[in-house]
Amino acid sequence: MSASIRYDELTWPEMRQAIARQPAVLLPFGTVEDHGPHLPINTDNVIVESICLEAARRAPDDMLVMPLVPYGLDEHHMDFPGAVSVDMQTLIDLVADVALSATRHGFTHVLIVNGHGSNAPIADLAARRVVLESGAICGAMSPNAAIDPTLAEPTFSALRRSAPGGVAHAGEYETAMMLHLRPDLVQMDKAVREEGQLTLPYFNWDHAAPSVLSWQDWWSRMSESGVCGDPTVATAEFGRALFETTVENMVRFVRVFRTIPLRPRRDLHT
Ligand SMILES: [Zn+2]
Repeated sequence: MSASIRYDELTWPEMRQAIARQPAVLLPFGTVEDHGPHLPINTDNVIVESICLEAARRAPDDMLVMPLVPYGLDEHHMDFPGAVSVDMQTLIDLVADVALSATRHGFTHVLIVNGHGSNAPIADLAARRVVLESGAICGAMSPNAAIDPTLAEPTFSALRRSAPGGVAHAGEYETAMMLHLRPDLVQMDKAVREEGQLTLPYFNWDHAAPSVLSWQDWWSRMSESGVCGDPTVATAEFGRALFETTVENMVRFVRVFRTIPLRPRRDLHT
């Protein structure tokens, strides 16, 4: 039997065996957008897919990784060359349809793994649709610490060098991760610190703590370089430590996710 942890590398008879095994099906969801003059526009895709695949390699009985959905909610980045924008409703439908396909074959637990901050409401709504239409367990989360640092802890807080505001986008976190994962794509000589995002009470734009306000501006209104953060202090060592911690926590997280029971609905009208 194939040991592949990639959903699309199995044959259909192998898929039938995989369905009997019931791993969690991971659906990485990224985007193509500017990440400053020093990082490639596939940064979110590289980070989220690398975390999913390495977690699955370490726990192959617990997960199967679908091909990445590489485009996300990005209209607000279209002032920067190269960004790819897909309509909001189309994205919800696309992500939900992909996840629903897995449930139609009998997989009971599907996890949308989001790598791009602005995808969060899309991922959430898609997961909700999957639950309502299939009855399967489908949820959304992010292992990218620029979105939610939970799975990168305690490494993230212990080793970060930038001040609050230094992580948000193409900053210390994403640059460190790329220096570890794809150093060939990082041009550190072009890295600039730019923190043009507003810092106001109740509005956190470092993502190390939740913000009261949910709001996203046109990117070109707050950043000239595409960076909102401080990539200049990023190191490959920090990236390696972050990746290791995140992958280990991701394995633990998915093992918990797999234990969510499928309980029967009840009609309480009568
Ligand atoms: Zn990013």
